[in-house]
Amino acid sequence: MMQLPKSRRRQKLREKKCQYPGCGKVFYGIHISKYCAEHRQDQYRIRKRVRPMDVTRDNVILPHTYTDVTVAVMHCKLQGCDNQFEVKMYPRQFIYPKYCPEHRNEYKRIRHLQRIGREDLIEQMKSESADVELEYGGADVAAGDTDEDMIDAA
Ligand SMILES: [Zn+2]
Ligand SMILES: [Zn+2]
Repeated sequence: MMQLPKSRRRQKLREKKCQYPGCGKVFYGIHISKYCAEHRQDQYRIRKRVRPMDVTRDNVILPHTYTDVTVAVMHCKLQGCDNQFEVKMYPRQFIYPKYCPEHRNEYKRIRHLQRIGREDLIEQMKSESADVELEYGGADVAAGDTDEDMIDAA
């Protein structure tokens, strides 16, 4: 096991396999790490950067088969937030808010994490957005699919 400065993080490092195509190198990282030190470098990221990032940063992709507008109750994905909120799900629209109305803004999420003493999750939240970007890199997500008017329409 590697030694970590104890004060900073509660995250455990574990053995991970780099998911960069063709790499597969084993390294130690927190559970959301996907790439070895080399493939975490910006040059590799930029190569894979795709547009859905802005979409998935604050939203989740929820594949569903509703054929009518359906109201679903969602739980805020922010650690330590128990808020639930209603979301109108539309046929063929699969992108929905990830956080309760209170936490749709990143600044407020960071404030919340600081308040509950989980500063360690702030970095994670930020890198998570980057990871999602890669995960859904191939997804056919058009910017038009997140028409805010549609989401907000009562
Ligand atoms: Zn690698
Ligand atoms: Zn919340």
